[in-house]
Amino acid sequence: MSEVSTPALRAEALEDLLVEQGVFAPEQLDAIIEMFNERVGPMNGARVVARAWTEPDFKARLLNDATEAIAEYQFEGGQVDKLVVVENTDEVHNVVVCTLCSCYPWAMLGLPPKWYKDPAYRSRIVREPRRVLEEFGLQVADSKKIRVWDSSAEVRYMVLPQMPERLLTADETARAAAVGRDAMIGVALVQ
Ligand code: FE
Repeated sequence: MSEVSTPALRAEALEDLLVEQGVFAPEQLDAIIEMFNERVGPMNGARVVARAWTEPDFKARLLNDATEAIAEYQFEGGQVDKLVVVENTDEVHNVVVCTLCSCYPWAMLGLPPKWYKDPAYRSRIVREPRRVLEEFGLQVADSKKIRVWDSSAEVRYMVLPQMPERLLTADETARAAAVGRDAMIGVALVQ
């Protein structure tokens, strides 16, 4: 095929067809796109992390039952029937994968990055986590244990990263802004 078969054009053709067939109305699709662009994304997870750093009660609830703890936020995006938050400490570093496919806490982190769905990441992070994390640019001290959490359709995991010292004096908004998606998957630290 020629250059007319770009993904954008194909998506547009598919959209036209689905609207024409009455599968959905154009406004419904616009609403979904707006949701993922503006309301679903790693900023939701980051807000929760920043709050957990400052509110010990909330942190305790989050680690005990994250599904219940985040209910009040009414995050959209689905795919989080049961959320489990695992805490990074001086002794343990956590990292999340879905070995089977690409289960991911959409409502907390938005859409998964491409590498998360890569068969190489999915198999290697289990077998040689220290090495894979090194390839992400993250050196985990030998004294630290690495725990790998395998997400599924039923349970989605998110990492509560450690707060770097430089954020001690920052406010919650600045703290949340510092929390990147990769830190909540566990392949990076909060810088
Ligand atoms: Fe999956």
